[in-house]
Amino acid sequence: MSRFLNKRTEELTPYVPGEQTHRKVLKLNTNESPYPPSPEVGKVLDFYKSVYKDLRLYPDPEAFALRDVISDVNRTDVSRVFVGGGSDEILGYAFMAFCESDAYFPDITYGFYRVFANLAGVASREIPLKEDFTINPDDYNGVRGPIIIANPNAPTGIVLPQKSIETLLSADKNRLVIVDEAYIDFSPQNTCLPLLAKYDNLLIVRTCSKSYGLAGMRIGYAFGSPELISDLNRVKYSFNPYNLDRVSITVGIAAFRDQTYLRETVSKITKTREYTAQALSDLGFEVLPSAANFVFARRENTDAKRLYEQLREQGVLIRYFANVPRITDFLRISIGKDTDMKRFITVLKGLLS
Ligand SMILES: *Cc1c(COP(=O)(O)O)cnc(C)c1O
Repeated sequence: MSRFLNKRTEELTPYVPGEQTHRKVLKLNTNESPYPPSPEVGKVLDFYKSVYKDLRLYPDPEAFALRDVISDVNRTDVSRVFVGGGSDEILGYAFMAFCESDAYFPDITYGFYRVFANLAGVASREIPLKEDFTINPDDYNGVRGPIIIANPNAPTGIVLPQKSIETLLSADKNRLVIVDEAYIDFSPQNTCLPLLAKYDNLLIVRTCSKSYGLAGMRIGYAFGSPELISDLNRVKYSFNPYNLDRVSITVGIAAFRDQTYLRETVSKITKTREYTAQALSDLGFEVLPSAANFVFARRENTDAKRLYEQLREQGVLIRYFANVPRITDFLRISIGKDTDMKRFITVLKGLLS
């Protein structure tokens, strides 16, 4: 820490991302896709070789062409679409724009919400999930908001039905509900996008990092009323007007245009997830019902931390959350390819016997 750091920043507890490594390991710890992005993305990058000179120009600060494709694919108006450098950036803007003094979210959820609240200078109000790790919308009665819900939730993978989101939205229309749909492509029937027309207190945030296989590119997007989008733009134009670079915009367009490829990879991952959940359960694990590209599991009389460390020694990286009291007996395993998961299960079997 330098002697120049201000007090506000000194007091922050930054987010700790899952380990990224150059070692040759089986990497099942940060919910990346095991599949590359659409081959159309590759073509765009080839194309960029010929127009690299354009990189001297700033990108379109509105990223209109990308927002246009996103609105097309999702059958909404472009005025309802916002894009950012990953959904983390958008969530950061949303905390800055919409939280006055408090932010409400479940006790077990994406760890970054606490950090965003901290940075925005607002209190984190954590509402405990039920014993079975589901959300009871009634627990939010009387809460003034904003409320932030990851759906499907992370790291549990459990999805909340659209009806329950609607309960949160209709209970108080002067309360903003932010739904983080980072994993919704693995459970598309549960999106609350159709509620957008009816509720102007809904902001939906999504990402290309998981289902589109583009974690390395940093593309996030959001849907809300034109007024909410304009509020997000106030923050963006006060911080980083050119938040998506020219390459990301072009790559994003290619990825969204190839919905067939998205459906194919998502379907492969979902099948592999079912295999993995079954194999874990055969080994005596309790596996929470997952609607995402990872599973969350625990095993009676098994030290999760030790197992995590042993797997690591064997070259298999998964995620263990040491600092979240209610889930220290759980492990989160990202879904790779079939062959990855078979290897994972083999290594795991060896350790358990
Ligand atoms: C991965 C993840 C994000 C962040 O995604 P980026 O777009 O890569 O910043 C946001 N929310 C949840 C719940 C996630 O799991």
